Amino acid sequence: MSLYENAVKQFNKAADIMNLDASMRDVLAKPKRELTVNFPVRMDDGSVKVFTGHRVQHNVARGPAKGGIRYHQDVTLDEVKALAFWMTWKGAVVGIPYGGGKGGVQVDPSLLSMGELERLSRRFFSEIQIIVGEDRDIPAPDVNTNGQIMAWYMDTYSMNVGHSVLGVVTGKPLEVGGSLGRTEATGRGVRVCAEEVVNYLNDKGTINKGIDKMTVAVQGFGNVGQYAALLIQKELGGKIVAISDVSGGLYKSEGFDIADVMEYVAQNKVIKGYPKAESEISNSELLELDVDMLVPAALENQITDKNADNVKARIIVEGANGPITPEADEILNGKGVITVPDFLANAGGVTVSYFEWVQSLQWFFWEHDDVNKALHRIMRKAFSDVARTGEKFNTDMRSAAYAVSIEKVAQATKLRGIYP
Ligand code: NAD
Repeated sequence: MSLYENAVKQFNKAADIMNLDASMRDVLAKPKRELTVNFPVRMDDGSVKVFTGHRVQHNVARGPAKGGIRYHQDVTLDEVKALAFWMTWKGAVVGIPYGGGKGGVQVDPSLLSMGELERLSRRFFSEIQIIVGEDRDIPAPDVNTNGQIMAWYMDTYSMNVGHSVLGVVTGKPLEVGGSLGRTEATGRGVRVCAEEVVNYLNDKGTINKGIDKMTVAVQGFGNVGQYAALLIQKELGGKIVAISDVSGGLYKSEGFDIADVMEYVAQNKVIKGYPKAESEISNSELLELDVDMLVPAALENQITDKNADNVKARIIVEGANGPITPEADEILNGKGVITVPDFLANAGGVTVSYFEWVQSLQWFFWEHDDVNKALHRIMRKAFSDVARTGEKFNTDMRSAAYAVSIEKVAQATKLRGIYP
């Protein structure tokens, strides 16, 4: 099954539980707009290469489309559709006024020079400018894109319209309208969900162990994985015994000093070769470790029907989008594993993106502490809404999160009516 079909399968499970009618399902499940662009980029050697990119707006009933742009050699329209779909539910679950969007360019950016990367980024953004804008669709960073690329996007759009438009993208550097707290926001949201789920399960008597006594494995050591690991360790006392990235995994039974690994990665790009690990492990071994909590924070489809049975963690907090397939979900639910689903667990990024957008529109910037406090408040409320809905429908947290979000988007759709 394709990633988008997987996503719709999750949606339908919740729609069944809620008895959502067939026409509303049809409206909510399909993307509103799909734009594919093929565009030329001049390479350093003088040749011209044509790249393919996409921007999908899944649903805009609750506000402008919002979602990151990914650069990866495996990007497809199907993947972008699934990611845009999840953004709709992500904005809704945390209650910020956004619809769902996502973009991607099929490219391995590690093969480009800085000049080529800049030309590709500026041309791609110009190509999708016909549908993006600060009140229409607001991109942000995702896999392999960063603050520098967002600065180029903002500048490109601004040059094209003749004045600075800070609100057209989020995840910008502070110097050009970024927000304090945005870099670590997704990881911080994962950290809040990790704390909330452990407290919730302790309150319910399902477990009897604080997070400060737990071992944690984190797959992926990029923006999300690094800050999730750092904050779970630093602020909650969780022991991060395993980490991994595209270069492989590392294990240390007494727990890594994550700030130290981050310094190593800042210099060496990957965790491979980090000298203070006990042993090397593979990415698949990491997922099957005997730990209390697993945080997949790399890419989609990591836990499937092939390895779900071997997962030993009791709690999974999904930093990445779509790391667990629907078949694996069923297996994990059957084993009593509690999963905080992606579009809730990693919603910290879009929440602070929302704060950044508000600041950019007003040209008025907040203190770091105000950003973090507002983020924690929103994430805790979203977790509690989902937990209560799970109890109401007697279902898992993923279906509960869909139910919370579907309700909000369906209500907005009903109130707006069908045009004409
Ligand atoms: P990133 O590019 O900063 O990091 C990705 C990490 O995954 C890197 O450490 C990379 O080495 C690792 N990786 C890549 N392929 C791998 C593989 N096959 N096995 C193991 N590790 C692998 O990206 P990111 O922004 O941290 O995004 C990670 C995930 O989180 C994605 O699913 C993304 O959609 C999702 N997400 C990101 C944000 C955000 O604000 N950055 C917000 C919400 C969701």
